[in-house]
Amino acid sequence: MVRRCDRISYALARNMSLQLTFLGTGSGKPMPHRNVSSFTLFRDGELFMFDCGEATQIQLSKSAMKPGALEAIFITHFHGDHVNGLPGLIGSLTLNQRERPLDLIGPSGMKEWFAKLRQLSILWPSFPVRIHEVDGPGPVYEHDNFTVTARPLKHRIETWGYRLVEEERPGRFDVGAARELGVPSGPMFGELQSGESVTLDDGSVVDPHEVLGPARPGFKMAYCADTQPCDSCGELAEDVDVLVHESTYPAGEEELAHERGHSTAADAARCARDAEARKLILTHISQRYTRLDQIESGAREIFEDTEVAEDLDEFTFDRREV
Ligand SMILES: [Zn+2]
Ligand SMILES: [Zn+2]
Repeated sequence: MVRRCDRISYALARNMSLQLTFLGTGSGKPMPHRNVSSFTLFRDGELFMFDCGEATQIQLSKSAMKPGALEAIFITHFHGDHVNGLPGLIGSLTLNQRERPLDLIGPSGMKEWFAKLRQLSILWPSFPVRIHEVDGPGPVYEHDNFTVTARPLKHRIETWGYRLVEEERPGRFDVGAARELGVPSGPMFGELQSGESVTLDDGSVVDPHEVLGPARPGFKMAYCADTQPCDSCGELAEDVDVLVHESTYPAGEEELAHERGHSTAADAARCARDAEARKLILTHISQRYTRLDQIESGAREIFEDTEVAEDLDEFTFDRREV
């Protein structure tokens, strides 16, 4: 994990397999020390954004991530602290003369909202904006080798949580086993690695399962905000490498949190523990709480691998080996 790298080179970032960058980690209104909700996932040279609160593009410009690499933006709900930065960001992409399409995934009403921005000439994008309104639990976005599914969260308005799952990767290639079976180095190695059987000169056939280890799981991530504890949170977070969960309130403030459709650090930790997540990152911290160590410790009593994100924190992940 890399934390608080002020600015790493883009070339370096491109070499990292997966990276989360937190652009805003507060709730309600933007503050100098904590902007409102947004984070990005950078994978294989492409950028995916989750929520886009006010001034997200300013935060993006302070990070190592480039807006030109954006492929899709996922919006959880229409509260301003999750969406008010979107018109500005899309306006700037137009000023940058973007031509590639951008996918925008969010709650019902998003098409109408966007059409109104166009109608009033607030936005006139230079590129196609492909809007996908989430109309029920299930897959909402597919891209190369991963799928994002949505599930309804329990908040004050229609809100969707997201789960990103990469396809499994082929197992590790055992060169020694291949040689022992008489496979010569060269193209046959590649064929076996891509799952094809090969026929040797003596007529014997070698199948991929003889030289490949077990399939390796792809990266899995879940994002639960804003929400009080609910079944969907557990379903989204099941077996993920990282769960990004809102923690508007510290542990002990459950009554207040749930009354307002939010979670505490302890709620998020229970979700991570019960879903057998590998790591928990807390975000959407109420601006009134400044003792992050207390928020973190309240969660760690329940789920050890917890961290409270701060603006511009970066977390890197390697895909799992088996
Ligand atoms: Zn919020
Ligand atoms: Zn909200």
